[in-house]
Amino acid sequence: MNNKNYKFGTKAIHAGADPDPSTGAIMTPIFQTSTYVQESPGKHKGYAYARGKNPTREALQKNIAALENATHCLCFSSGMGAMDAVLKLMRPGDEVITGDDLYGGSYRMFTKVFANYGIKFHFVNMTDATNIEKYINANTKLIWAETPTNPTMQIIDIEACGKIAKKHNLILAVDNTFASPYLQNPLALGANIVMHSVTKYLGGHSDVVMGALVLNDEKLYEQLAFIHNSCGATPGPMDSFLVMRGIKTLHLRMERHCFNGKKIAEFLKTHPKIEKVYWPGFTDHPNHEIAKKQMKDFGGMISIVLKGADLDQTFKVASSFEVFSLAESLGGVESLINHPATMTHASIPKDEREKAGVVDNLLRLSVGVEDIEDLLEDLKNVLG
Ligand SMILES: *Cc1c(COP(=O)(O)O)cnc(C)c1O
Repeated sequence: MNNKNYKFGTKAIHAGADPDPSTGAIMTPIFQTSTYVQESPGKHKGYAYARGKNPTREALQKNIAALENATHCLCFSSGMGAMDAVLKLMRPGDEVITGDDLYGGSYRMFTKVFANYGIKFHFVNMTDATNIEKYINANTKLIWAETPTNPTMQIIDIEACGKIAKKHNLILAVDNTFASPYLQNPLALGANIVMHSVTKYLGGHSDVVMGALVLNDEKLYEQLAFIHNSCGATPGPMDSFLVMRGIKTLHLRMERHCFNGKKIAEFLKTHPKIEKVYWPGFTDHPNHEIAKKQMKDFGGMISIVLKGADLDQTFKVASSFEVFSLAESLGGVESLINHPATMTHASIPKDEREKAGVVDNLLRLSVGVEDIEDLLEDLKNVLG
């Protein structure tokens, strides 16, 4: 089942997950095999070697493609593996325009890996999309946008970026990890490639590391599928199974993440110990109107600045919760708290980091799907 006319929740449960033809098993089997027997050399059922093709992974890829209303999906062994494949579309001398508030690992890959291969990166404030055009020249090939951004929850206008990309014949890739396909579908707004850290909301249970690229463009798909198989950052069948199982409740989880996120953002906004709350659902968020236009709801990711707290005091707060766990990552059923400056964003130089608002007293919350009363109680106990 991969019919685009079904609604999101139905697709989350059924797309790609046809019953196993040999047994009728309703759950896609875990094809734990590296190779497939051939009748005579080259004569096989379409499967030769599992780096290239595995039925469990294929089922998952069909499922994620359906969630983004796309024709193609490629799953990778991590989100970074997926990004790496996109960057390998570049040649020495090519230029990339990206945001000034990015996932730390993305920034590290751009500056410490691909910059060494002669690719130039411009880190631009993309909250006003017209800034992008100032950096476009004959060498520009790719716009890499992340929205909402990590951790300051900037919102970037995907449709405006799409128009600019189209006008200048550039590829627009959107890191859709924070929103998940439930809240936002960038391909429909003009993106050419959607990237997910599947590790986060799609997997949803903090038990798998995986990435995905989703797209409609046939030519780009051929190029990326070639890199996927040639460079080999492909996920295994067990992980593919776990993610398919996780996705079956994506819509239910996202509803609760959004519900809990809103309650907590509102609680923190008026709390005397909190200086600032970053959450796109507030009407005074600078790009709230764009968030409203391109997202179905505002999600469960919230960042806060503790009023007048130094690093020690911030560490103390971060380590004092009972329900929120201090950990990297996000998007799982359990609530997490993170200190970006020393954890997820430690690879960004201090001055760059602080310019982007990632100060020492900033904490990021990934609000889980626990009972809201318990989450609020935990916050009250720690903040006072
Ligand atoms: C986690 C994350 C990544 C990297 O994905 P991995 O699965 O950890 O490799 C990229 N972008 C964003 C926004 C992320 O949160």
